[in-house]
Amino acid sequence: MIKREETRIVQNSTLLFGHSNNILIQSMCDIKTSKIKEVIKQINACANAGANLMRISVLDEEDANAIKTIRKFVKIPLVADIHFNYKLALISMENGIDKIRINPGNITSEEELKEIIECAKKHNTIIRIGVNSGSLSNDAKGSTEEEKIVDSALKYIRFFEDNGFYKMVISLKSSSPITTYKAYMLFSEKSDYPTHIGVTESGFDEIGIIRSVAGLSPLLIYGIGNTMRISLTKNPLKEIETCKRLLHDLGLFKKYPTIISCPTCGRCAVNNTKDLAEKTLKYCIKHKKYITVAIMGCVVNGVGEGKNADIGLAGGKESFIIFKKGQPVKTVDQNSALEELFKEIDTFNVDENL
Ligand code: SF4
Repeated sequence: MIKREETRIVQNSTLLFGHSNNILIQSMCDIKTSKIKEVIKQINACANAGANLMRISVLDEEDANAIKTIRKFVKIPLVADIHFNYKLALISMENGIDKIRINPGNITSEEELKEIIECAKKHNTIIRIGVNSGSLSNDAKGSTEEEKIVDSALKYIRFFEDNGFYKMVISLKSSSPITTYKAYMLFSEKSDYPTHIGVTESGFDEIGIIRSVAGLSPLLIYGIGNTMRISLTKNPLKEIETCKRLLHDLGLFKKYPTIISCPTCGRCAVNNTKDLAEKTLKYCIKHKKYITVAIMGCVVNGVGEGKNADIGLAGGKESFIIFKKGQPVKTVDQNSALEELFKEIDTFNVDENL
């Protein structure tokens, strides 16, 4: 079991980050925030898929003012993404945003930052200090990129603390998974603020998933990260699903099924194991059966190799064996294998309070 980093806790009335609390999964809307109806629809679809919070871009006053309405019709907290224009942060907070994200690289005036701080105190808003390697301030010190990223974050944090503000979550992103990893590791030695982890601009589909998992897995294994986003080009729902899978595989998210399936080899006498595995995953998600299911190509090795699964299928000759904890329980025709497996899966009672 992973021992989580003992960060301080940062919370307001809707959000709780830090220490051993759940790692909050987030994504970001890819629609302009002033398109209120579409944004509400996307946020609620993401919430239904498992997002704990959603970020929205605030580019102008129209976006900032849309927050008031959007906030009424969505079921999860929202983060306003602000660049350059500090006044948009103020309007967003006045309109009920739960958290704002600002970038030290593009809001630098001390007077403007002080106004943001006073407004955040008044509205109990959490602030993410979102350092990004692509927009580091010129005075960031260090001989490596990760040192500059961390230096930039620490300077900003000090300014906020000097002005009596502590409700901060920190992100230290780079599009390189290695720099991202090094930056968060370095930061965790120097600060106990909770972190939002992610690899920025990581790409699309498998490219983005692999790059993100490469950077984030070691951090999560070290117990680092209190909220996370896996950025994928134009696919917020996939971002959420990927976060859940990664956290689940590391034992940090229980409410997800575990599907084991062998690659198949010359011993396999059935040809639909991939299809069976995909349908089984969908079935278990839909029916909230958070158990381990193995879909194996042959009886010779499959039953033994799948012995840690709660239940599984192992291919025979035009048939499958259903097994539980490595023990065969019945043989079924290959055409009815899935139906028979689902009947058995239905008999598992899964604790809803996992
Ligand atoms: Fe091959 Fe059987 Fe192992 Fe699958 S379970 S990889 S079919 S030996």
